[in-house]
Amino acid sequence: MHILVTGGAGFIGSHFVLRHVEAFPNDSLVVLDKLTYAADKKFLSSVLEKIIFIEGDIADTKLVKELVSKHRIDTIVDFAAETHVDRSISDPYPFLQTNVLGVASLLEVCKAFPMIRFLHVSTDEVYGDLSDTDAPKKPLDPLCPSSPYAASKASGDLLVQAAVRTYGIKAAISRCTNNFGPHQAEEKFIPTVIRTALAGLPIPIYAEGKNKRDWLYVTDHCDALEVILTTPNAFDACRVFHISSDSEQKNIDVAKAILKILGKPESLLSFVRDRPGHDWRYALDSSETRSLGWKPNISFEEGLKKTVEWYRERSVR
Ligand code: NAD
Repeated sequence: MHILVTGGAGFIGSHFVLRHVEAFPNDSLVVLDKLTYAADKKFLSSVLEKIIFIEGDIADTKLVKELVSKHRIDTIVDFAAETHVDRSISDPYPFLQTNVLGVASLLEVCKAFPMIRFLHVSTDEVYGDLSDTDAPKKPLDPLCPSSPYAASKASGDLLVQAAVRTYGIKAAISRCTNNFGPHQAEEKFIPTVIRTALAGLPIPIYAEGKNKRDWLYVTDHCDALEVILTTPNAFDACRVFHISSDSEQKNIDVAKAILKILGKPESLLSFVRDRPGHDWRYALDSSETRSLGWKPNISFEEGLKKTVEWYRERSVR
């Protein structure tokens, strides 16, 4: 494969690139990343000689077309996005620019190069939230986003579906639950808990900390994407693949587990005013993706230890 990975210097994209280079040394990879605050090119330092790295914007259609043509790209894996819900509440416009117009730009490229397979990485947040008793969402359930972030991702997904129907491009959408692991931007929930706990500062927990998330270790997510990329017919009819770990945890329990690993007291937990529109729970039915032979390999406990260790090492450097 000749793959263009967008957002490959961010959290999930960087793990995908590192694993793909190791597992498929004969593939060629071009990474396109705008290098926003969430990116760190250093995550890719061990493979920079084996890939082509371009700093640029997915909304720059001319640039992406040039890259596709020059490097004979046959597959795009699209991780590029603005991703922090709280930022989207303060200022939605960067989210619309990248998550909607950026996706539209990549679809223009796919129109111009119809042999490309486009894997668009999306999120469980497009469905909105569930109550404690709701069944996990299935791939064809209606979208009902709550935050500007989720609405921008849902818009991107709808544009992909429309492009498949109208222009016949080859695309698939993956939707996953909350990822965790090394390389995640410091403002996200688990890195925030680790960072503030290490500093002995109050750890901000929204409301009573009872909101639930399903936690998927980042490399398990990347492995699921590889399975999709090698599944015959995956790109034929805009299939939607769910990726989840069935490991739901209350936020407060995640924070307590981190404190336990770090040997820090629970008195650091500090309850703060809830996020506006805060979704209660997400859950995805990933049985179809599992039927392709994928399953998560890293338990929540094991993944959390690895994650805490990575941030702890980074903090002492
Ligand atoms: P991230 O914020 O860590 O990284 C995003 C990357 O995209 C960064 O490297 C950034 O520089 C790059 N980028 C942003 N705008 C760009 C643009 N216009 N052009 C090129 N590059 C641009 O995000 P992440 O957590 O790695 O998420 C990757 C994808 O997975 C996103 O689409 C996100 O919606 C989705 N997702 C993430 C999670 C999660 O828990 N992290 C859960 C579900 C879905």
